[in-house]
Amino acid sequence: MCAEHEHDHAHGILGKNTELYFALLSGATLLVGFLLEKFTDFDGNISWGFYLAAYFFGGYFVSREAVTEISKGKFEIDFLMLVAAMGAGFLGNWAEGGLLLFLFSLGHALEHYAMGKARKSIAALTELAPKTALLKKKDGFLEVGIETLRLGDTIIVKPGTKISADGFVVKGQSTVDQAPITGESIPVDKVPVARPDLAFENPDDIPSESRVFSGTINGSSTLEVTVTKIAADSTLSRLVTMVQEAQQQKSPTQLLTDTFQKYYVPAVIALVILLNFAFMVIDETWSESFYRSMAVLVAASPCALAISTPSAVLSGIARAARGGVLVKGGRPLEDLGNLTALAFDKTGTLTEGKPKVTDVIPLGEGDKNDLLKILVSVEKLSNHPIAKAIVRDGLLQLNGADFPEADSLEEIQGKGIKANLDRETIRIGNLKIFEGETIDPALLQRISTLETEGKTSMLIQREGDFIGIVGVMDVPRKMAKPTLSKLRRLGIKKMVMLTGDNQKVATAVAEQIGITEARGSLLPEEKVAVVQELMAKENKLAMIGDGVNDAPAMAHSTVGIAMGAAGSDVALETADIALMADKLETLPFAIGLSRKASAIIKQNLWISLGMVVLLIPATLLNWANIGVAVAFHEGSTLIVVLNALRLLAYKEKSKGIF
Ligand code: ADP
Ligand code: MG
Repeated sequence: MCAEHEHDHAHGILGKNTELYFALLSGATLLVGFLLEKFTDFDGNISWGFYLAAYFFGGYFVSREAVTEISKGKFEIDFLMLVAAMGAGFLGNWAEGGLLLFLFSLGHALEHYAMGKARKSIAALTELAPKTALLKKKDGFLEVGIETLRLGDTIIVKPGTKISADGFVVKGQSTVDQAPITGESIPVDKVPVARPDLAFENPDDIPSESRVFSGTINGSSTLEVTVTKIAADSTLSRLVTMVQEAQQQKSPTQLLTDTFQKYYVPAVIALVILLNFAFMVIDETWSESFYRSMAVLVAASPCALAISTPSAVLSGIARAARGGVLVKGGRPLEDLGNLTALAFDKTGTLTEGKPKVTDVIPLGEGDKNDLLKILVSVEKLSNHPIAKAIVRDGLLQLNGADFPEADSLEEIQGKGIKANLDRETIRIGNLKIFEGETIDPALLQRISTLETEGKTSMLIQREGDFIGIVGVMDVPRKMAKPTLSKLRRLGIKKMVMLTGDNQKVATAVAEQIGITEARGSLLPEEKVAVVQELMAKENKLAMIGDGVNDAPAMAHSTVGIAMGAAGSDVALETADIALMADKLETLPFAIGLSRKASAIIKQNLWISLGMVVLLIPATLLNWANIGVAVAFHEGSTLIVVLNALRLLAYKEKSKGIF
């Protein structure tokens, strides 16, 4: 019944604000006509001429929209407004008809203007991407369109210019302003990768200090960047696509109002038709009945209701994107604003995810370096963060030593690994992998001590004999503790840490960062079970993880939130909400914004429904005429849109805490 504001406007001679100028002209001519009529003795035809002009300027865009709608077989409010205005003229009420068209066209023009502002804020994202790149050639460089760049090309990025492709730095050192992608206000240092060939083969493993994104801005020195993604696949272009898709998705409140309107609109139309016959029952003329029916129609049109949620969702998603948070639709936006329980993955989310080897303990008369050699050889085959830490630290310790090749790797999820080395079976893992085997109580005691210190400890077994213990420690992120306390102040009541790590380690880490509930020793499928259990208790739950090995748990939660999504395609794809930066501290921003969006959606519902509840009886009883009804109708529509636009200016409160 309302114009759904989705149609594009062909703009007139006065530029993109023609609609607004026309509305204002309509008001001006209306006023002149009215003053002439009231205060002069000029021929009535002169003021009538001005009223006609007011009809023209006020009705021009309304008729155009009505014609388009009718050609699509839809009778919407534009058409009905025209009918009402013509009816008023027909009854001789030209001034009132002119007022109706003036207010209606003004309201419309302002709404389009306001919604355009929210849209533009998203369109601005697309404009971030440079159109050309400087392609490195044997002798100098060549400016080419970014769509012609191929994987492995090297581009040159001059100081102060935008980076034209996703890739990694091979030459030069600089700082890069990544705010367009990650929302981080401080530029980050970039250095070349050590091994360009390895980086190109495993683009997912490129360290963040060498990885760059299209659309970000280079600082004061020239960089050479090897391209790892073609333009269409760049993080930025995927971000833009996802944001655009997100806006199409209806939020729970919108679905609810849609259902409501399905019954409400036919009911209003039936009432309006019925009111045309009022003169048969009460003592009035048909034109009075017709007039009332038009006033009720205007009063009952749920335009403000129809636009109240989409406008808030649009602005909320746009604001989030500017802060480095991709919200994939109205559903996660509303859900995140309404929940009070969070589950966190430990490794890489609450902790740095870059463990360090703290203890290498040979058992019996074994030698420490021999043990380390075995560890490195076997863990080389694995991709687990613990494995990477052991290999990195081990190689440093045993600088230049030879390492025997291990093979036949078997990874046992959440427990450890098994491989062959020199025809002997080596197993490395936590106690779960050795379940059912007898372990010396003194050995168990040593492991227990390490774990109480927060060290993740694994046993090494060769051909059934335990030959050593390795302990690694992953430090909590510096921002974990302040972020969690901020979340608590935001009203998040329950925060739980989930991890595959040992319970004692989990508890130790949890204590350091001030989380009250830690669930350790969880296999991936057990994490899902815990998420389900929490959902049953808390109704709604957000799961925050890295989006890769936490994907199942995230999928089972109400809202799955991935950190560091800018560097990981999988995370970007699987999360409902993606924090582009690898920073926990963007979480309070995302939650605060969602809260605000939910609050604004609720306010908008009250405003729009309240207006209808007031205006229907007022027009029915002839307390309010069409002019008043249009003014309130358009006014409330405008108020909900402007209220929603406040989200574009959302700022996080109490920044000073950190
Ligand atoms: P998280 O929840 O911390 O990501 P995982 O399920 O990935 O936990 O791993 C759980 C535990 O399994 C680790 O703490 C470690 O004890 C053991 N583990 C997993 N992979 C390895 C490996 N490659 N080498 C040794 N231990 C491993
Ligand atoms: Mg993990």
